[in-house]
Amino acid sequence: MSTEVMCEKQADKFKLKDQVALVTGSGRGIGRSIAESLMAAGAKVVISDINEETCKKTASELKEMGGETLSVVCDVTNSESIEKMVEKIMSEWGRIDVLVNNAGITRDNLYMRMSEQDWQAVIDTNLSSAFKVTKPVIKVMSKQRSGRIINIASTTGVHGNFGQVNYAAAKAGLIGFTKTVALEYASRNITSNAVAPGFIDTDMTRALGEENVNKILERIPLKRMGCPEDIANAVLFFAGPGSYVTGQVLEVNGGLYT
Ligand code: NAP
Repeated sequence: MSTEVMCEKQADKFKLKDQVALVTGSGRGIGRSIAESLMAAGAKVVISDINEETCKKTASELKEMGGETLSVVCDVTNSESIEKMVEKIMSEWGRIDVLVNNAGITRDNLYMRMSEQDWQAVIDTNLSSAFKVTKPVIKVMSKQRSGRIINIASTTGVHGNFGQVNYAAAKAGLIGFTKTVALEYASRNITSNAVAPGFIDTDMTRALGEENVNKILERIPLKRMGCPEDIANAVLFFAGPGSYVTGQVLEVNGGLYT
């Protein structure tokens, strides 16, 4: 293959027209913003969330903006619920081009005070979920001989963080998962990358309270929290023009590396 063919204009790759993108946990927060951006780039988007109300609401609001959406309630910890979701997408749209494993939770506490329940809930929702959701989706992508998988990790998974031993372990595991899937599926033209957000202004970080948020702000070189769109922009790169990038972790954190 000539380099001329491989190195076509990158701007064209931003157009995801007729591609199908599945974003887990996209009823609100970062997931919703990712779904909006993928839709703006031309993709048909599957709004998937455990919460039926936000799932339906977001799907219909995005449709009103002029995009094609499909609302599918799915608990990413439950294999049966995932199988049903993939079946529905395949019967409606017949393909899946982009998978964003975004759904996640926090259950923060210092290690000595953390219950096994809180450890397990965070591992199940942030790590095992990616194992379970990616399996049926990657079968579809393998048949298509193309696909983009983007996992939403965290800077906590790269550097650790006080009070987040469960979350740090889950997100570090997700990074290992991302890199291994990249190696195993490159031959099928499927890329696998991770975006590791720093502190992003969503309900998840609002729950930390004003005092904690102010302390965190002091440590961020760019002196602001990120917005969900900052993460969506990074996802868009991996879903679109980043076709020769796989196994990478992109930290989107305003310069907060410790
Ligand atoms: P968020 O505002 O709490 O939204 C998370 C979404 O995931 C919610 O819609 C939630 O549904 C859904 N969800 C939770 N458990 C689920 C399950 N079992 N199955 C399906 N959906 C489920 O969180 P966010 O801040 O947007 O975070 C999105 C991702 O970015 C997460 O993976 C998070 O770890 C990661 N991240 C966030 C930050 C940050 O600063 N915000 C930083 C680093 C990484 P409900 O409405 O029912 O709760």
